[in-house]
Amino acid sequence: MYCEDDLLHIRGVQQLSYCKRRCALLFIEQQWSDNFFTAKGIVMHDKAHAEKIEHKKGVVIERDIYLKSYELGLIGKSDVVEFHRSGNKLIPFPVEYKSGKAKSDNVDKVQLCAQALCLEEMMNVTIESGAIFYGKTRNRLNVEFNKSLREETFALAQEFHSLVDSRETPKPEYSKKCYNCSFKELCLPEIFDKQKSVKKYLKEIVNNEKTI
Ligand code: SF4
Repeated sequence: MYCEDDLLHIRGVQQLSYCKRRCALLFIEQQWSDNFFTAKGIVMHDKAHAEKIEHKKGVVIERDIYLKSYELGLIGKSDVVEFHRSGNKLIPFPVEYKSGKAKSDNVDKVQLCAQALCLEEMMNVTIESGAIFYGKTRNRLNVEFNKSLREETFALAQEFHSLVDSRETPKPEYSKKCYNCSFKELCLPEIFDKQKSVKKYLKEIVNNEKTI
């Protein structure tokens, strides 16, 4: 169990799942860099947070709910939580808004699952599922909070705490995901790409071939 002073931002779980170095740049070095994708994401979040409480077909929709889990050591805010009636109980159903499209990995799902685990701890309920709304494809992906996703989220939360406690930013590991990463200019992953010569890298910078 973590105490109040140990709590870290819930978003770290998603960032760590994407890239350990990115997570360290953000949460150890306090750096932030927007690109087209993150800027679009901010606009979508602002829209999602426009009205705080709404009622729709028997579902109560609340935005900006503070989330906290002492077990995971996380704190943050929801995009949207729908409350669905089940008997005499209201069961929370977290919904996260993303600007892009659904991914083949669990990067977005672990963030949503962390929100669900916070709500479970805060409200003493079990939450079976939630959803991620993707702006680019305008579809809503239902996410089941099964055992393996819960375990993955829990492990990431622990690793996130260890990373922040270590105060050490790992070196970049160049991969496909660097291409769309908003931290590319800060991180300079290509310098560490063993497949690429420094000469070629510098030539690309001069020609500005790689700027999005
Ligand atoms: S550019 Fe690549 S290595 Fe650097 S933070 Fe982004 S994903 Fe990680």
